[in-house]
Amino acid sequence: PSNIQEFEYKAEMKQLLNLIVHSLYTHPEIFLRELVSNASDAMSKVRFARLTESGEAVDAEELKISISVDKETRSFVIEDNGVGMTEEELIANLGTVAKSGTLGFLQAMKEQQAGGQLDANLIGQFGVGFYSVFMVTDEVCVETRSEGSDACRWRSTGEGTYTIEKIDRSERGTRISFTLKEDAAEFAEEYRIENIIRKYSNFVDYPIYLDGKKLNSVTALWQKSKSEMKEEEVNEFYKFVSVDFQDPLDYLHISVEGVVSFKALLFLPKEAPMDMLYQQGALENHGPQLYVRKVLIQHECKDLLPEYLRFISGVVDTEDLPLNVSREVVQSSPVMSKIRQILTGKILSWFERLSTEEPEKFRQFYKAFGPVIKIGLNSDFANRDKLIELLRFESTKTEEGQYVTLREYVERMGDEQKEIYYLSGDNRRQLLSQPNLEYFQKKGVEVLLLIDPVDVFVIPSINEYDSKPLKSIEKADIDFASSDDEEKESVSGTMIESLLKVFKETLGERVESVVESHRLVSSPVTLVGGSDAMDSQVEKMLKMMNK
Ligand code: ADP
Ligand code: MG
Repeated sequence: PSNIQEFEYKAEMKQLLNLIVHSLYTHPEIFLRELVSNASDAMSKVRFARLTESGEAVDAEELKISISVDKETRSFVIEDNGVGMTEEELIANLGTVAKSGTLGFLQAMKEQQAGGQLDANLIGQFGVGFYSVFMVTDEVCVETRSEGSDACRWRSTGEGTYTIEKIDRSERGTRISFTLKEDAAEFAEEYRIENIIRKYSNFVDYPIYLDGKKLNSVTALWQKSKSEMKEEEVNEFYKFVSVDFQDPLDYLHISVEGVVSFKALLFLPKEAPMDMLYQQGALENHGPQLYVRKVLIQHECKDLLPEYLRFISGVVDTEDLPLNVSREVVQSSPVMSKIRQILTGKILSWFERLSTEEPEKFRQFYKAFGPVIKIGLNSDFANRDKLIELLRFESTKTEEGQYVTLREYVERMGDEQKEIYYLSGDNRRQLLSQPNLEYFQKKGVEVLLLIDPVDVFVIPSINEYDSKPLKSIEKADIDFASSDDEEKESVSGTMIESLLKVFKETLGERVESVVESHRLVSSPVTLVGGSDAMDSQVEKMLKMMNK
């Protein structure tokens, strides 16, 4: 019929579909999680719009997700009565790469592919979930109607083009149907669907029915008391809110009553998502979910935590905001800044507690998120002191991979030592072979080894700890009182003078100065920065950036 219009996917989209279908086949089941989460999002939009526009709550019966399958024909249908889509929205949402997530996804996929290991989790992280359906089918049909517009049918085989036509459909919402590929026949089995829903979608806010049978629990776990929560349930909930396949490293349950009242269930992941640490602004749009009286208000609410802590996922539920709160109000609400302040304090105390009570967990946490703590140090000045206590360094007195705190360093340094020493570089072995260390090693003076690239931007800003200045041992003006150095006696003053003169004449402009050093033990000479010089690591990084 002439009613059907054909459209072509943008170039990147073809690439994307190809990648998803051919590279992510290890977890085909996530197609269901993605379709359910889209349905759930669409219904939250209805609930939210109703609240903000008329102040009415949506009837609990009204919103639901229905799945139906047929084993014989391998047909699969999932339907919701969420907001639906207009024709323009269909094109924008299912046919283009206008969404920022898509390109980031492609980039990350390429990097992972180069590294040899692909992670099906990426799909969720970058919000390109709908297309995962092409892992289990060759053609998808989406029928949808948004309040006040015509209903449309969208069809695609995921191979370059899609079609859209007007249809008759009176109900608001979306119906997605397709025939499962032969090798995906398992997803027409009731037990299999039940299993997947339990695994990924148990805590979806709306009832999910499979041929009339309700599958999920729809409980607000964070409202329970800690003793009522089962660990298994908590782990499941984590996977549900965070798009992670692994259990969390640890979790924190908070119930606050006072100036503001809220409950929170927060999670520490075992690993940092791949783009999180080293891509500037990667944490900007993350955050826990914001609920008001058990109703989801915002998915990734950035106002709940300072940016550097937004790798923490979970739920915050408060009674102190109106249900029909808008994003703008959330942003500027004094209730939110109070919650943020309390949460930040509780989270930092949580880390501190882990470090004393569960050192192995802390070590794992620090390995994954240490750089984030350091970023916090330069942005969250109110909590600077707490953050400094969380810092860990390898040192000349630790084993490789073992850490010392600044407190421990100060506690074990000798009375005559007035400063905290550090040396920065690429790795431990390279640092340990530096001539500049010899003197300190001989004297048994501990030197912190800064091998995290972020360190050089952070440590100098600390200036001092416990009234002890932090100093790079590369700076020329460090010299211990050396009256007890016998070796020095073997070279007379005049010999030193003439030796230095020869060096200065030979090196000329290339050095600032040549001085006699008391810090070398077995190496004859060493190169150091002047006392005003940049840290050599910083210098190296700046050079790299200018290239
Ligand atoms: P994301 O959900 O991260 O935005 P998806 O690829 O899963 O990415 O979905 C793309 C978009 O398509 C959604 O943002 C939404 O606008 C639209 N969409 C998908 N499924 C539905 C649905 N069931 N109802 C309404 N809109 C939907
Ligand atoms: Mg989605």
